[in-house]
Amino acid sequence: MKNKKKFNRALLPTPSEYYSKQFPGLKIKLEWVRVKCCFHEPDNNPSLSISMVNGNFKCFACGAKGCDIIAFHRLRYKLSFIETINFFGAWSHE
Ligand SMILES: [Zn+2]
Repeated sequence: MKNKKKFNRALLPTPSEYYSKQFPGLKIKLEWVRVKCCFHEPDNNPSLSISMVNGNFKCFACGAKGCDIIAFHRLRYKLSFIETINFFGAWSHE
C-alpha cells in the first residue's frame, strides 16, 4: 500500500519543548521538574514530577503516571494513541 503512514518518534517535540507549553512559566533547571498536577485538584504543593530527559511523569498525590509525553497527552486530554500522534504530527510517510 502506498502512502502508508508510520509513527516516527523522532518527529515528537522534546520533553522540555512540550512541557514548557503545557505548563507556562516552567523553570527547567534539572532533569526532574515539579509542577502543580493537572490530574487532580487542587494541587497547592506541586506534586507532579516530570522528566525533561524522557518525558516520564509521576504524581505523588494522585498516582497519575506514564513513560513519555505521548502518555501524558493521552491522559490529560483523554485521547487515543492515533489522535495524540495526529496532534504531534509525528507520522512518516513511506
Ligand atoms: Zn496528581
